[in-house]
Amino acid sequence: MARIFCIANQKGGVGKTTTAVNLAAGLAAQSQRVLLIDLDPQGNATMGSGIDKRQLARSVYQVLLGTAVARAVISRSAAGGYDLLPANRELAGAEVDLVDLDDRERRLKQALAAVEADYDFVLIDCPPSLSLLTINGLCCAHGVVIPMQCEYFALEGLTDLVNTIKRVHANLNPGLKIIGLLRVMFDPRMTLQQQVSAQLESHFGDKVFRTIIPRNIRLAEAPSHGVPGVAYDPAAKGAQAYLAFGAEMVERMKTL
Ligand code: ATP
Ligand code: MG
Repeated sequence: MARIFCIANQKGGVGKTTTAVNLAAGLAAQSQRVLLIDLDPQGNATMGSGIDKRQLARSVYQVLLGTAVARAVISRSAAGGYDLLPANRELAGAEVDLVDLDDRERRLKQALAAVEADYDFVLIDCPPSLSLLTINGLCCAHGVVIPMQCEYFALEGLTDLVNTIKRVHANLNPGLKIIGLLRVMFDPRMTLQQQVSAQLESHFGDKVFRTIIPRNIRLAEAPSHGVPGVAYDPAAKGAQAYLAFGAEMVERMKTL
């Protein structure tokens, strides 16, 4: 059975997509069968996987509306070694189009049921909001991975996300868990980041992943080449960290 994880944080630009794409490629490098679902109308995970979002005949949008089956829309990211359910700006309409449909929070869960068995991991790149799209992701997930920067305001945003996860857990998906907090874009030279990082560890204990993702320019360059950072420059510090994170996830699955 596939392990299904949302990469979520309603704060924008915190490293969700970078984490989703590189964890997908990192897990694929560990011989795991991975499906990455782009659930963001920005389509960044799609482009970062080497699939042109402007050329899609169909996307996750049709899958959510039930006018296409997932298997027909999934394509292969050759660059990443994983499968992708892509998205583009069309998906922005889903919020409105889904409102009148039955079980609007469970559309993705229903669509995934048919393909889940083909994978060891399904990763969902969520948009920077706690919208119906994110709720669809949370409804079908076993767990949430929360990338965050070690900044002063990082913890404030976390409260809203944790409350949303609690609500989904109580009303829609009793299996949902927070898997862990991932420290990203970390700069060890900044005292404040070290302090916040230490606070996270003392406050959340083993809910904080051991692996820390450093700020690394190669990770930022990779999307413009349509290649995950771990494949673009595997020797770079950022790529090495995401590969280590993939190994940590596989290890953590054994204890879940
Ligand atoms: P959004 O909320 O818009 O979906 P996001 O949370 O998905 O954003 P990303 O797109 O992954 O965030 O990252 C935001 C920017 O930071 C991107 O330009 C990305 O290339 C860059 N970035 C992410 N992680 C790193 C890193 N570890 N080192 C350097 N740059 C990074
Ligand atoms: Mg993103």
